[in-house]
Amino acid sequence: MATWYIWSMDDVGAGGSDMVDATRRFCRFLESLGARATLFVVPKAGGQPMSPEWIDALRELRDSGHDLQLHGLTHADCYEFGPPNWPATAIMPAFIEEFERRKEELLPRYTVENLRVRMEEGIVIMQDALDVHPTAFRAPCGAMCKAMFTALRQVGIGYESAMYISGTGYEHLPHRSGVIAQRWENNIPHTPFRWYSDVVEVPILNEYTWRGAWQREQEFIALAKEDVSRIAQESTVAVLLTHTHGVGDNIDYAFRLVGTVVEHVRANGLGDFATMGELIASGEMDRAVRGTGADILPL
Ligand SMILES: [Zn+2]
Repeated sequence: MATWYIWSMDDVGAGGSDMVDATRRFCRFLESLGARATLFVVPKAGGQPMSPEWIDALRELRDSGHDLQLHGLTHADCYEFGPPNWPATAIMPAFIEEFERRKEELLPRYTVENLRVRMEEGIVIMQDALDVHPTAFRAPCGAMCKAMFTALRQVGIGYESAMYISGTGYEHLPHRSGVIAQRWENNIPHTPFRWYSDVVEVPILNEYTWRGAWQREQEFIALAKEDVSRIAQESTVAVLLTHTHGVGDNIDYAFRLVGTVVEHVRANGLGDFATMGELIASGEMDRAVRGTGADILPL
């Protein structure tokens, strides 16, 4: 069994020139290894139109074979499509208190109608500005609710990728355990799985380039190799996560990490790299689906 590995990058479209630069350099580096990125784009970051600089960069990357998918609409906070979810709550425990404090304002957001309108606006921006029609969605900060899946189905998006198999990539943060060692969750399947409204959830394996990870380089590189080896035993599709700001935090570390993982996957015959859009279009994603997810979302 060979596995398709996906390098995904979040928060593309948000931030200034430094984030555009991090995205472009990350993509060019993957190209040099014969791989492409799946970029989760925020179409109207902070409620503002996408800058000409981002539009130019994303058109250029699209033309080089990188995959552009939808990452919310504004991503103005971490509750755009649902209440806070793990591991965002482990990265930032204050999300839980903030959500409680703003509950009356936030809960009415989570109707199928409201969430569908937000998705539709994002899809139109991606079509008009980038000439791309997204086939996958990633909820900002992994914050999701059941109505979100109904809305995805209604706008014709059948794939979502925001649940995590492992959150050990954040254990280096000051308020966490400090232990960088493999630990996987078993509350969801480790393969793509059918979930609410028949949408396929494509779980994220882990993230190794969150801000500050470079200070524990050897441990994170070892963890990444262990994770990608193990997932090859369990799934034919595996999603690796990065963020623009995490990669930009120390791009030379990000290159070493990515380069090592690519080499490890190929040298050990674990599989190869593809984009989420390619796997959806070819039917590989559907063939990777195993089982149905349990009803675990609170809302
Ligand atoms: Zn995000």
